[in-house]
Amino acid sequence: MCKQWEQTVLGLPDDIDICKKVRSACVDNCIVPVIRHLWDCHINTRGCCCGHGKENPSVVIADGYSDDEIQTEIYPAIAEVDDRDWDVLQWRITKVPKITSQSQSGCVQSSQLFVNIAKSSKLI
Ligand SMILES: [Zn+2]
Repeated sequence: MCKQWEQTVLGLPDDIDICKKVRSACVDNCIVPVIRHLWDCHINTRGCCCGHGKENPSVVIADGYSDDEIQTEIYPAIAEVDDRDWDVLQWRITKVPKITSQSQSGCVQSSQLFVNIAKSSKLI
């Protein structure tokens, strides 16, 4: 665990986060070995934080990794170099089902404000 300002600037390997123009990343000192190991394993990361004693250490990985790959490749790779509980995070596109007017009728009747919010949110 380190303070928030105790970071190391690491150069990004060519195959990691290829769209990022600035080819370096600030990494909390106590997780530098983990992040370097993930990169050596060609695991594409997008961000990380040691948690600073308040949260588990975490790493954000690129989209495209399946749950199975996370379980069988990424968590084990982390465990090879660090014995703390880690959280692996991932941005994913998720389809959100449209709420039908029938299922929201209770709220519509109870609040005109909700109707206005619902109408405006359809424009987004
Ligand atoms: Zn730390």
